[in-house]
Amino acid sequence: MIVVMPSLTRAEATARAAAVEVREYEVDLDLTGEGETFGARTTVRFAARPGASTFLEFEPVSVGSVTLNGAPVPAGAMDGERLHLSGLAESNELVVDAVMRYSNTGEGLHRYVDPADGSTYLYQHMFINNAGRILPSFDQPDMKASFKISVTAPAGWLVAANGPLVAGKDGRWEFAPTKPISTYLCSLIAGPYHAVTDEHDGIPLALYARAALAEPLEAEAPEIFQVTKQCLDRFHEIFKIRYPFGHYQQAFAPEFNFGAMEYPGLVVFRDEFIYRSAVTESEREHRANVIAHEMAHMWFGDLVTMAWWDDLWLNESFAEYLGTRIAAEATRFPGTWTTFAMQRKAWGLRADQHPSTHPVAPAEVTDTDQALLNFDGISYAKGAAVLKQLVAWVGDDAFLAGVNAHFEAHAYGNATLADLLGALSAASGRDLTAWADVWLRRAQVNTLRTEVTRQDGAYTSVAVLQTAPEQFLTLRPHKVGIGLYDRTAEGAVVLRKRVEVEIQAAERTEITELAGEPVADLLLLNDGDLTYAKIRLDEESTAAVPALLPLLDDSLARAVLWASTLDAVVDGERPVAELVTLVLAALPVESEVVVVEDVLRATRSLVDRYSTPETRPAALELVAQAADRLLAVSEPGGSRQLAAARGLIGATVDVNRLRGWLEGRDVPEGLAIDADLRWLIVYRLAVLGAAGTAMIDAEFERDRSATGEQWAARSRAARPDAEAKAAAWEAIIGDATLSNRLVEMTASGFWQAEQLDLVRPYVARYFAEMPGMMRLRSGMSAEKTATYAYPNVMVEPATRSLAAELLATGDLDPILRRVVEDADDDLRRALAARF
Ligand SMILES: [Zn+2]
Repeated sequence: MIVVMPSLTRAEATARAAAVEVREYEVDLDLTGEGETFGARTTVRFAARPGASTFLEFEPVSVGSVTLNGAPVPAGAMDGERLHLSGLAESNELVVDAVMRYSNTGEGLHRYVDPADGSTYLYQHMFINNAGRILPSFDQPDMKASFKISVTAPAGWLVAANGPLVAGKDGRWEFAPTKPISTYLCSLIAGPYHAVTDEHDGIPLALYARAALAEPLEAEAPEIFQVTKQCLDRFHEIFKIRYPFGHYQQAFAPEFNFGAMEYPGLVVFRDEFIYRSAVTESEREHRANVIAHEMAHMWFGDLVTMAWWDDLWLNESFAEYLGTRIAAEATRFPGTWTTFAMQRKAWGLRADQHPSTHPVAPAEVTDTDQALLNFDGISYAKGAAVLKQLVAWVGDDAFLAGVNAHFEAHAYGNATLADLLGALSAASGRDLTAWADVWLRRAQVNTLRTEVTRQDGAYTSVAVLQTAPEQFLTLRPHKVGIGLYDRTAEGAVVLRKRVEVEIQAAERTEITELAGEPVADLLLLNDGDLTYAKIRLDEESTAAVPALLPLLDDSLARAVLWASTLDAVVDGERPVAELVTLVLAALPVESEVVVVEDVLRATRSLVDRYSTPETRPAALELVAQAADRLLAVSEPGGSRQLAAARGLIGATVDVNRLRGWLEGRDVPEGLAIDADLRWLIVYRLAVLGAAGTAMIDAEFERDRSATGEQWAARSRAARPDAEAKAAAWEAIIGDATLSNRLVEMTASGFWQAEQLDLVRPYVARYFAEMPGMMRLRSGMSAEKTATYAYPNVMVEPATRSLAAELLATGDLDPILRRVVEDADDDLRRALAARF
């Protein structure tokens, strides 16, 4: 199947919105047929300038009939993936009967067959330009309409949509029309989903997951409902408009591309969030954060929607900021800002230093392809960090007053960044034009560095130096915290003094508040993590980090230090060997699970790419030792124990120990070798050449689940065997029947730092064959496949030369171009740090 997605340009969208006003869609789907297609009968009612022409996005397999105002529309009206209409009346009714195709890429109407029981599950995902794969529509965010959905489905299925069910009998499901929403927010799930229901504050609640996950769904439902209720209450405290979409359903669907999607009244999550094996507290915290994130979108995104995709960042930045904040304020997970400082900001910083970096708020997003590419660490994490900085800048009361005024002015409509800044300026009395210009309209990140002079045990001066990368000269105003930490006689490290100061948009800001203060053992810049910047400490504080980091009580302060340390290694300012030594000393006493997980993950990745083939085994052994020491001191059955065990499994080369755990020998007390941990072990054994196809097949026989199928694919691709690599590569490059998730898992198992000689021939093949793959897959699935399949462990000049050759090609797919440019830039850094 060749997929060529049309990209809607901004100019086309503006012209269409001026000519047409859509009122409602009535969609009637027939999902009872066998095979690859389904039936869709759609009625679109819309007003238009009399005599005007327009078009709708529409990608049918075949069309039964198309009538406009009762008259047949000529066959020539279909042009590629658009249905053209001319001679419009003031009030119009378009009726289309068509056969449509299911997808396996997570876009359109995704169809999934569960290996556990053979059941079929569907979910609809029309974001960002996929509405035409289900119904003819004006697919742009500012053409909001009411959707009235009806479905004929096989017996035994459950169907849910945005609106409440008004009639359901004998496989026929009819839903109430929605409030006005954008096309990309229209939602549907269908299949023998298992349901759990509840109610809170007059709002009906429901959870759905595959029947094979019924048991874990029942087990997880109390916590998911509790978090949902706590977040609803908190949003009702800070927002003046009550939750606007009736019921609040949350579905967990297979092979979902995103973490979750904010369809009003029916949020859809990836079903990995329904845990069937032990997970850590940080994974539960992440789920709570995602629940809060999607709920924030109900107001910011769904009730008030961006007018065009150039403000997509505003949706995501707001939801990321509010999700992190509300989860911390309302649920049993107060540490979300530590996770944000550690994980999410690192994602934003990386994206912001790539060649593809762009402003948080781009001035111009010309089409939907461009919009999808901007859906990255900058739109989410940097945007949220900048909003956190904005709240520090204007104060929380003014921030919330401005946001509430914004909702009231634009409810059920669309708005722009200028509208929001206007509301915030009015509420705070501060003109935000200059602030918005440097923080939102300019790309790249500043580095803040402390410089101190001292005499007789006291600071004579403390200054913050600010720099920008050479080609980006923007300096910014920052509100930051600076903490002075001392080591006590008892061996603790405590905060003596903390100041919050405004750093000017200048190369040097004197911190007069700290002149004359006794010298601290650690002067921590960006204490409290208020601003978004690369942080470097003064020389003495940097030297003190290995000794003081393990003793610091404040997890957010530790996260700021770890993040800055990891970042300095990524930049090649400090050797990876030094990081590994720090990990060995500090990680075994780390109490914050997310820090343990993230440091192990980041260090493992840096060891693979920043050490040479000669130094790597010893470095990896030290990472394994750090995890092993942590494992030895962790409380049995706790999150740290699980995080340490996973870290150890990923780094060790001790095949006998891993096999022993599988067979129940010498397993640490309290550690459950459950289905997911077994797969982690089998995968590692596969990488090390100690698990063949027979063992992988046997494990899949034992765990014939969706997750089992994915891990089996990943494990097969990871084996150090020429035939296994050839089969995996063929699947990645040429098998369109493979679903999005299975191809991602195959690609993520392919490249292994342990197998450089075996996989080296595939470096050239990546650059030769990936343009073809991009024509086979679409949108997000294509982007993820190209990213996971990138030879990023081949840190060699030859890899860079091949990347340069491909990038010199004129008509390279824009998604592939960005993937290669950014991955090559990561390789450039790694190569520079090695030699
Ligand atoms: Zn979001």
